[in-house]
Amino acid sequence: MRTVFDDTICAPATAAGGALSIIRVSGPAAVAKVSAIFSASLTDAPGYTLHFGTLRDGETVLDEVVAAVYRSPHSYTGEDCVELSCHGSTYIVSRILDLLTASGVRMAEPGEFTQRAFLSGKMDLAQAEAVADVIASQTAAAHRVALTQLRGGFSDELSGMREELLEIASLIELELDFGEEDVEFADRSRLSNLLSLVRSHIGRLIESFRLGNAIKNGVPVAIVGKTNAGKSTLLNALLGEDRAIVSEIPGTTRDTIEETFNIDGTLFRLIDTAGLRESEDRIEQIGISRAYEKLASAQIVIGMLDLTAPLPDLVASAWQIADALTAGQRLILWLNKTDVVGSAALSAAQTALNELSAARDAVLLTGSAREGAGLDSLRAALSETWSSLGNASESTLVTNTRHLEALRLADDALCRVESGLGNVPTDLLAQDLREALYHIGAITGEVTDTEILNNIFSHFCIGK
Ligand code: GDP
Repeated sequence: MRTVFDDTICAPATAAGGALSIIRVSGPAAVAKVSAIFSASLTDAPGYTLHFGTLRDGETVLDEVVAAVYRSPHSYTGEDCVELSCHGSTYIVSRILDLLTASGVRMAEPGEFTQRAFLSGKMDLAQAEAVADVIASQTAAAHRVALTQLRGGFSDELSGMREELLEIASLIELELDFGEEDVEFADRSRLSNLLSLVRSHIGRLIESFRLGNAIKNGVPVAIVGKTNAGKSTLLNALLGEDRAIVSEIPGTTRDTIEETFNIDGTLFRLIDTAGLRESEDRIEQIGISRAYEKLASAQIVIGMLDLTAPLPDLVASAWQIADALTAGQRLILWLNKTDVVGSAALSAAQTALNELSAARDAVLLTGSAREGAGLDSLRAALSETWSSLGNASESTLVTNTRHLEALRLADDALCRVESGLGNVPTDLLAQDLREALYHIGAITGEVTDTEILNNIFSHFCIGK
């Protein structure tokens, strides 16, 4: 697939606020349009050259800039491209954009440079999506996963899988050809072996999303417990020193903002489960059921227990939290407010929770969220718990929900093929197989439609 565009687009490629800004111009007239406002002619400039000069607005010098010239197809978009490095003044940037647009260059839509890179065959769709992930990566692990995808690691794996599917298709087509002559299928066991191989491959990729998503967006952690147990205080304490790197990630339900913090290179994401408590209030109950839904998406749950509460209440609260967990979730119980209770009360609580801790494999920690005591042990426990979930994976990870959905749909179709072998007309099997191929192809953009593309690229915020 190769698309050639006849218009030229421009946009700032850097966020406002730095000492320098970069304005990117791409399209057939990119070099000529920049050259027209530049102090020297760039029209014959070869690719990969830098040119120092001034940008002029009529007689007025606007700025001293460096123009980097790229020639098609050796540029990010595959088109002729100029990147102007100017001083990072919003005035200068907007004046340069004014001059370019006045000369017929169009302001780019969000993601349009990357969309052009995809449409002109510079990268496939999965790689194009990885560009945004590389830019957003906050940890070494997230960066590694995104870069592997950008460099085509995931795409190679998918194209291998497509080959395998095509081989299955050719076997099925063979049966279609001979079907009417009632010829026994040549090698049905080979077909079923191939199918189970591909399905286990897809299954591994689907399973990898749990880790891929945690690496990209942070390991989901929920802090739950009764009101006033100290949840918000602990949350603030955990985020405290790392506030500088705290970022806002829209929650899965899109109605909450979740905050992240980093422990030894692993990103953790605190799920907002405020309101996880008993309530008579109907509106509040809705909030609570939402909180329980969110609890389900946590991989690690920190159960907050208030040492100043009566012991039976504390123990009941701990069991209530433990019973709300689903398989695979890990529990850390935090006995809070050690600063105001005596050692006798503390050890009584610890003893009372021993049974639960052993039965549910829960880590039992003590500390004071308000005083910051015990936080290091909590951080270490989070790290260790995450490692113990078996996450040392070097293989390809799926991090994108669109890819996950496509893999699931492909697997559903292949499941129908597998179970239909021998008892479903071959043309139906062939149809399901084509569906599986379609979904795998949609991940890398081999098959796709404009609406899907626009949807993907409109979420890009590069240069905005
Ligand atoms: P939440 O309702 O569970 O989020 O509880 P908060 O974090 O709002 O805390 C409730 C009250 O307990 C506040 O007055 C906090 O200052 C206090 N608190 C929280 N953690 C501690 C602690 O470790 N020790 C003491 N003494 N008070 C605490």
